[in-house]
Amino acid sequence: MNHKARLVIIGSGIVGASTAYHLAKLGWRDLLVIDQGPLFCTGGSTSHAPGLVFQTNASRTMCELAKYTVDLFHDVLRQPDGQPCFRMAGSLEVAYTPERLHDLKRRYGYAQSYNLAAALLTPAEVSVLNPLVDVGKIHGAYFVARDGLAKAVDGVAAMAAHVRALQAGEFFGDTPVTGFEISGGARRACKGGGWRGGDGRARARAAGGRVFWRHARHWF
Ligand SMILES: Cc1cc2nc3c(=O)[nH]c(=O)nc-3n(C[C@H](O)[C@H](O)[C@H](O)COP(=O)(O)OP(=O)(O)OC[C@H]3O[C@@H](n4cnc5c(N)ncnc54)[C@H](O)[C@@H]3O)c2cc1C
Repeated sequence: MNHKARLVIIGSGIVGASTAYHLAKLGWRDLLVIDQGPLFCTGGSTSHAPGLVFQTNASRTMCELAKYTVDLFHDVLRQPDGQPCFRMAGSLEVAYTPERLHDLKRRYGYAQSYNLAAALLTPAEVSVLNPLVDVGKIHGAYFVARDGLAKAVDGVAAMAAHVRALQAGEFFGDTPVTGFEISGGARRACKGGGWRGGDGRARARAAGGRVFWRHARHWF
């Protein structure tokens, strides 16, 4: 493989794909996303996650990011059959104790503060949503209708499709990165088994010729 790139992203899980997608939307071009596994079931965490998305969070930033994620996966990203990459099943947290109900009221307060549509339900209202719940044993519940399940692998594939459609970059699977090329004190390229060399290497180059390396993980 001979590929010159403005930016090389190692890893085509949700973090790598999302980085490429959002940079492409911002106008970046010549992006290269490399993964050691096959695309897009790479074997990384994203391939294994059930994709549960709960938007309620004590942190306003995390809540806003989760809301954005739901909008993106539901309204923009599509599975191959045209269905959204998000199943808006809703979430129901039930309180088996008065103390737990008190905590759910606190979570409802976060939702109100952060403009997240949510509701506190009585046991009777819970039974309407889920008849399997024994209403005699619960004190109430917290319900978020727009929580649900992200189709993570399909979401990554859809993000890659957007990047390609914008002609902003390319994704390569089965391409492990085994090292970096360093010159002038800066990492300027990365390399792997079958694709290293002056005429067959991936060049990782930022605007000024330097590459800014950041390790990112564990954000959906
Ligand atoms: C069982 C399970 C359940 C989960 N459930 C949820 C959930 O319900 N909700 C939620 O929000 N989160 C969940 N998570 C967490 C979530 O899946 C991860 O936080 C997220 O997928 C991490 O994405 P990532 O892109 O950082 O990592 P990954 O998806 O692991 O991507 C990293 C990629 O880098 C590639 N790579 C690594 N080294 C190299 C190399 N040297 N050269 C080339 N490529 C390389 C790997 O192949 C991999 O594809 C779950 C995780 C697991 C494992």
